[in-house]
Order: sequence, then structure tokens, then C-alpha cells
Amino acid sequence: MALYRETGTIDLRTSPAPRFDLLKLPLYTTVTMQFSRGCPYMCEFCDIIVMFGRKPRHKSVEQVGRELDILRAQGVRKVFFVDDNLIGNLKVAKNLLRFLIDYQTRHQYSFSFGTEASLNLSQDEELMTLFREAHFRWAFIGIESPDEASLRETHKVQNTREDPLTAVQRIHAHGIEVLAGFIVGFDNDTVSTFERQYEFIVRSGIQTAMIGLLNAMPRTPLYERLQAAGRLREQDSGGDNTKLSTNVVPLGMSHEELIAGYRRLHERLLADGAIARRIRSKNRFFGRSSGGPALEYGAGASLRIVLRFFRRGLLPAGPVRLWHFLRSFPWTKPWQIPLT
Ligand code: SF4
Repeated sequence: MALYRETGTIDLRTSPAPRFDLLKLPLYTTVTMQFSRGCPYMCEFCDIIVMFGRKPRHKSVEQVGRELDILRAQGVRKVFFVDDNLIGNLKVAKNLLRFLIDYQTRHQYSFSFGTEASLNLSQDEELMTLFREAHFRWAFIGIESPDEASLRETHKVQNTREDPLTAVQRIHAHGIEVLAGFIVGFDNDTVSTFERQYEFIVRSGIQTAMIGLLNAMPRTPLYERLQAAGRLREQDSGGDNTKLSTNVVPLGMSHEELIAGYRRLHERLLADGAIARRIRSKNRFFGRSSGGPALEYGAGASLRIVLRFFRRGLLPAGPVRLWHFLRSFPWTKPWQIPLT
């Protein structure tokens, strides 16, 4: 088998459909597809714009349709568009979404979709409506920080156009769940940052919060700036968020304070009370998604998930967890039960 290397800028319109037939698709809950590459923004830490550039390139909608046809024929129902930023070019994104709405309508809402997008999704009413109607259930968004100074420091100005809490609540109101990435360790961050991150995540109701330590990837503007300032840690090469390590020498706190605060933030967010608060925060604003089946899985699989949840998750933990569960259950909005 030959090793594929991208040499230069690839025209995605000439890209053949992936060999999905080589995968054991029944073993996957979600299958990935890619429509575009690149992102117009300038986040200082981002290696995507270094690799794929700031001018998004994309496939044709007909290519997307052919790939969906292949997946549909193989029984796939959940598709993750792994684009760097699906809405990097708004006109192109809306065109794709209109195509997907038509496709879903013609095929009885065969798919539920998810993707990655920038937070300015919240500022375009038409875009959010198209997402919902195309049956996008969730979007992963790089929020990074609720602190405007940290966002400006890292040139993530697209997240400063409005209060990020309002932005998340508005996306939730359109029936699109926000999964989000967060970063701690910006130059502006201090030990008090962890509390603000905690409060933001709990109040926004973001269930899947991927929090990482700021790391500097080679060739990014962040890497070059820190290298010039002598602020790269030699012992950590960077890029691995799972090892409690970073190659960045923090400015507003010590390395030890950063690691301890990061651990503590995770522990607090994963406590029963915080999970329950997050669920309630989300349900308070979450609107109905449109079209498609109410359940992400078939009735049998859904029942097994519920039974496993009770047997392994809820009952062994005792009355406190049960209390949090009962308080967070959407008694008056039964359509939110699968979401919860
Ligand atoms: S919005 Fe996301 S993909 Fe675009 S430059 Fe920023 S981090 Fe990179």
C-alpha cells in the first residue's frame, strides 16, 4: 500500500470518493466525511491554517451526494463532516446545506450530521436554520476562553463579536448541540481563569467540553513567537493534550499552578452536581431539532443504553446521584429526554 503525502494545494473537486468499502462500517457509530479544507481565521495556535491555508477549498455538492449515496447504501446513519470550519465560506456553506436539506427530504432524513464550525454560526439566523433543517444535531466549536483578553491575545477575534454565552444559548435554541474546545494557559490567563472557565462551561450547558493546555505546534505563529521569546519548554515537544504536559512556559502563573488548575477544573466539571447543572443549563435553552427520527439509535439500542445507564451509571452511585438525575430530568419537555 502506498503512503499518501499531500504535496502542494489539492483541488478537492478532483478528489475521488473515499474507499468506504475498505472499512468495517457496522463497527462505527459515526462515519467521517470531508467537504472542505482550510479556514479564513487567524488563531495564533492553529496548525490547520498552516497546513491547509486560509482560503477554504471544497468539493462539489454532487461529490457529497455521491459519497452519501455510498454510505446510505451501506446502512450508515450518522455522518461527521470533519471540515476544519464548515462555515469558513458562508456562501458555499449555505449552498451545501440547501443541497443536504434537499437530499435529506428525498431520502426520508436518512442521516444525522455533526461538524466543526466557528462561533460566528450564532450570528447568522439563516445559517442556523439551514443547519437545523439539514438535520445537523451538533457542531464542535472552538470557544477556547470566555475571557475577551485571552481571545484577543490569540487573535481569535471572531469569538469577541458577542458574549460567547449568548452565542451558545442561541445555537442551542436552534436545536443544535454545541460541543466545544477550551484552552487554558494563554498569556492573559492566571489562576483565577479556571473558575471563569468552570462557570462558563456549567452555565452554557456544554456537555462535551474538551479542555486542553495551550501547546505550541511547530510552524504556527504561536510557536515562532514563543521560540523568539525563549518560552518553549525543551522537555515537552507539544501537541499531546492527554499527557498533562505543554511545551509552553506560561506567563500569568507557574507551570505547576497551570497543571494543578487544569486537573482541578476537570475534576470539578465531572462531579455529579456540575454535570447535572450543565444538563439543566442546556435544556433550559435547547430548541427542537427539525426532521428526522427523534432517537439517534433504534428502539432496541436506545433501550439497552438506558438500561446500562441505570445499571452501571446511576444506581451504583447511590442517592445523591439519583437526586441530581431526578432534578435534571426534563419532566415537562419529554422530547428532550433523548438529548438529556
Ligand atoms: S477558527 Fe478554528 S480552524 Fe479556524 S483558524 Fe481558528 S482554530 Fe483554526
